[in-house]
Amino acid sequence: MSDIIQLLPDHVANQIAAGEVVQRPASVVKELLENAIDAGSDSIKLIIKDAGKTLVQVIDNGKGMSTTDARLSFERHATSKIKTAEDLFQLNTKGFRGEALASIAAIAHVELKTKQENDDVGNAIIIEGSNVVSQDVVVTPKGTSVSVKNLFFNIPARRNFLKSNVVELRHVIDEFHRVALAHPDISFALYNNGNEAFNLPISNYRQRIVNIFGNKTNEKLVPVEEDTEVLKISGFVGKPEFAKKSRGEQYFFVNNRFIKSAYLNHAISSAFDGLLKTGTHASYFLNLTVNPLTIDINIHPTKTEIKFDDEHTLYALLRSAVKHSLGQFNIAPVLDFDRDANLDTPYDYTKNSKVSTPTIEVDRSFNPFQEETNAPTKAVSYKKEPATSWESLYVGLESKSTKNEEDFSEVHFESQESTGSIFDEDTQVEQANTTYQLHNKYIVSTIKSGMLVIDQNRAHQRILYEDFLKNMTIKEAATQQLLFPLQLHFSIQEIEIINQLKDDLEHTGFIFSEVTNDSLDITGVPVGVPESEVSIILEQLISDVENEVPDSNFSATDLLAKSMAKSLAIKTGQSLQKDEQEHLVNKLFACKEPNASPTNRTTFVTMSVDELDKKFI
Ligand code: ADP
Ligand code: MG
Repeated sequence: MSDIIQLLPDHVANQIAAGEVVQRPASVVKELLENAIDAGSDSIKLIIKDAGKTLVQVIDNGKGMSTTDARLSFERHATSKIKTAEDLFQLNTKGFRGEALASIAAIAHVELKTKQENDDVGNAIIIEGSNVVSQDVVVTPKGTSVSVKNLFFNIPARRNFLKSNVVELRHVIDEFHRVALAHPDISFALYNNGNEAFNLPISNYRQRIVNIFGNKTNEKLVPVEEDTEVLKISGFVGKPEFAKKSRGEQYFFVNNRFIKSAYLNHAISSAFDGLLKTGTHASYFLNLTVNPLTIDINIHPTKTEIKFDDEHTLYALLRSAVKHSLGQFNIAPVLDFDRDANLDTPYDYTKNSKVSTPTIEVDRSFNPFQEETNAPTKAVSYKKEPATSWESLYVGLESKSTKNEEDFSEVHFESQESTGSIFDEDTQVEQANTTYQLHNKYIVSTIKSGMLVIDQNRAHQRILYEDFLKNMTIKEAATQQLLFPLQLHFSIQEIEIINQLKDDLEHTGFIFSEVTNDSLDITGVPVGVPESEVSIILEQLISDVENEVPDSNFSATDLLAKSMAKSLAIKTGQSLQKDEQEHLVNKLFACKEPNASPTNRTTFVTMSVDELDKKFI
């Protein structure tokens, strides 16, 4: 038998490797930014077109490459960063596999321009799908520019697999944020389709966070500082009252490398125990410095996971450091950042107030907010003038749907599924005063054949959902003008999402007077939506869209209606007056599909007298 094994040609091997290294434009962004940092740059520009699908370009002012290195950099396993296996354990560079450029060049059109400081001219190389098209001498500034065009041009399946520009851009920006947050000592700029999206000068860490996430962030940050033999922690956590519905702003960096760690994340959540509203997540920006010998960053191909030798100690240290900071911030609320407008000395207070040596024992019962009267733990309250807020939810919405004014006794079920046998001949409910609220959760009422139990929250979600959908479809909604415009701050991705939904939001009654990179000016809100709820509604919406990972067939209208219904619906635990209970019942059965909530949960159950009789046998 003849031999059948052969070595894969380089370009095939590179394409295979690319599958691991390059999933999407954001992967290219990560690799190129990391190379620029490893090259010792202090100014890095990222240029993106079509969310990186058409172009990702990184221009740095680092040390550049010689003519030979420029050519070699595209070979697989070509790296200047390690020479022996031992070097792997002493890493202080980002890259080391020597795979990125070779992989990227296998699946895109790549143009490299590079020049070292003392050379007069530099080199330009064009590579397309692993083929070197040209290598020339060029005049170019010190440093390196790598442009990656037409990603996956030769692998249509991968190209088609890419998500919408909104989603891909979000990944790109996430990656950019991670790198920029890890390196406040480097200036970064991001240009998206020709517009400057971020311009981040060299600054301290607090200023870097503020430059990325907006000025409003400044007042939210609480410094965390701890220095022990095994671990140095520095950075910030967000104050509990600013916690968000989405997990967006949670960053760990270990030795300047962004990592994900559910375990360490848990340490932070537990430090916030009892301080957060349910369903919200604290933000954090924490840099951990550990001895490189005690970690293994090589366990994951994209290198965002990490293995620590002694996770338990890190957990305990982190948790107590964060608790300590939260406690301090509560006891002494006037910290440097309140008086230091220039943000130059964010760590001032730690120098003056002696930080006690951290210990691993943690007082679990310690609650720094215990004595504060308006503690965030108590902020969840259902009792805000129930009558008025209840009424107001319907003002305006009702005016357009006179049909909903029907008397309950005339209500018929329109939906096929809901016309169960009980209801066919039983569309009459005995008149007024027949409702009763059970445990501030269920509305109990009588129907001809027996008894009806309605889940108040789900029922109200259904009612609002159909109202919102109707408004968005017929494109007219009552707006309540605000006396003073409401300005809300969001991150650039969040604004992107709002922009995507702007038309639909306007059809529900929102009026946006100005939308910038990181803020919204709202001059009108849907009638009945309390001003104080607006930011929660929008945050919920953003988090719902993010979790949905919208692709081509996602319906923005539906998601928006669902999300707003969820935010605004009467909650379990809210006590309702008699007329409110009746109104809810009436409205529910005027819905197209009264029997399920927008997320398909049962809204009511019935029990006939016959069934009851059986129980009494
Ligand atoms: P790695 O970063 O793992 O070494 P890469 O494929 O990303 O592998 O890069 C290969 C080599 O090319 C690097 O080791 C470095 O020597 C050189 N290189 C890549 N990008 C740059 C850059 N922006 N500036 C200077 N040298 C670079
Ligand atoms: Mg690299």
